[in-house]
Amino acid sequence: MSSLEIRDLHVSVDDKEILRGVNLTVRSGETHAIMGPNGSGKSTLAYAVAGHPKYTITSGSVLLDGEDVLAMSVDERARAGLFLAMQYPVEVPGVSVSNFLRSAVTAVRGEAPKLRVFTKELKEGMDALSIDASFAQRNLNEGFSGGEKKRHEILQLELLKPKIAILDETDSGLDVDALRVVSEGVNRFSAGGDTGVLLITHYTRILRYVKPQFVHVFAGGRIVEEGGPELADKLEAEGYERYTKAAI
Ligand code: ADP
Ligand code: MG
Ligand code: MG
Repeated sequence: MSSLEIRDLHVSVDDKEILRGVNLTVRSGETHAIMGPNGSGKSTLAYAVAGHPKYTITSGSVLLDGEDVLAMSVDERARAGLFLAMQYPVEVPGVSVSNFLRSAVTAVRGEAPKLRVFTKELKEGMDALSIDASFAQRNLNEGFSGGEKKRHEILQLELLKPKIAILDETDSGLDVDALRVVSEGVNRFSAGGDTGVLLITHYTRILRYVKPQFVHVFAGGRIVEEGGPELADKLEAEGYERYTKAAI
């Protein structure tokens, strides 16, 4: 059993306070959704936990199985079992999907998998996601469709088997196909029981496919309401207006 504990986290960007005391615990086997209006700080939470240099932690703590995540380098966070999929994956010309994934697996496991073993693992992962074999040789993120980006994200999850995965979804680029890929991936991971998932999203429609046990509403840089799956239904029906008013 693993847990990510975020305690009273305050984060600033360019001396402006964005996160104002976030408290959240995610355990393996749990699926949490963070939902909230645009600009409420959802992505800031993901970037801060990922260790992006632009996001300054002014107080609070983040612990993974009791270890201080904020003291770790970005690589160390990945090796400790944190996975962070960002909203806008970068294109890397000249680096194939296969090479990228083998490097990522090597970084996380601390040693390079034998090529034959890795090739087999990769093929199994791709088959499970109905990804064509040619995908492995494509340049990283170059010309990926929304669905391909998402398949690649979930493929990384399959190979890296993190303790805690934080998926920041804008939803804006997500067509129905991509939505289905993310949803099935998340559902498979939470069913496995070894990974805790924190799904960050603005739109409620992904929650028609993923049923989180915990829903947290984010507004004004903190969690303002928490509940079970029924809260997602309420948000879908009522929107965020109530919270944006309250946050001002
Ligand atoms: P959300 O993901 O909920 O839409 P964000 O975390 O992206 O919210 O943004 C929250 C606030 O922090 C916004 O006011 C945004 O302008 C500001 N912010 C976030 N990241 C940066 C950044 N890298 N540089 C400047 N401002 C930022
Ligand atoms: Mg935003
Ligand atoms: Mg965002």
